[in-house]
Amino acid sequence: MLTVAQFIERCRERGMNVTYQRILIYKALRKSDNHPTAEEVFSIVKKEYPAISLATVYKTLEIFAEHKIISKVTQLHDLARFDRNTAPHHHLVCMHCRKIIDVHEPDLNRLSLPEQNGFKISGYRIQFEGICPDCDALEQIRLAEEEEASKAVTFCGKYKNAEQP
Ligand SMILES: [Zn+2]
Ligand SMILES: [Zn+2]
Repeated sequence: MLTVAQFIERCRERGMNVTYQRILIYKALRKSDNHPTAEEVFSIVKKEYPAISLATVYKTLEIFAEHKIISKVTQLHDLARFDRNTAPHHHLVCMHCRKIIDVHEPDLNRLSLPEQNGFKISGYRIQFEGICPDCDALEQIRLAEEEEASKAVTFCGKYKNAEQP
């Protein structure tokens, strides 16, 4: 992730205007979770700059992505998610809460494919799908509760039967 000074430098190199809004949006990206939606970035920026619109934040994030200042995580998500980390890395995606966690595993950066009919590959990103520890813990509690509930039903059933002559 770039510092704010590096961000300004990068914008200048790329011939982009460095505006107060753009700096605020980049600062918000630095403050946000790893892979925020435009709405999450918007809610941070709005605190310092209430006049900003979601459309402006979204457009600015798209411009940052075009200029490779950030990247976009799009697979599987209906909402675009933005990634301030532009170094090669991979993702763990929780299929329950849609949390995205970075994976930095050098071995995964050394994969190669045999000839692909002239397709020139410029990069790849691996997405591991599953359930995060938070959701897994909730799932275990839910399963335990379900089991308790089914035990209670069995108990009631037996109790009723015992009462009947
Ligand atoms: Zn989760
Ligand atoms: Zn990432």
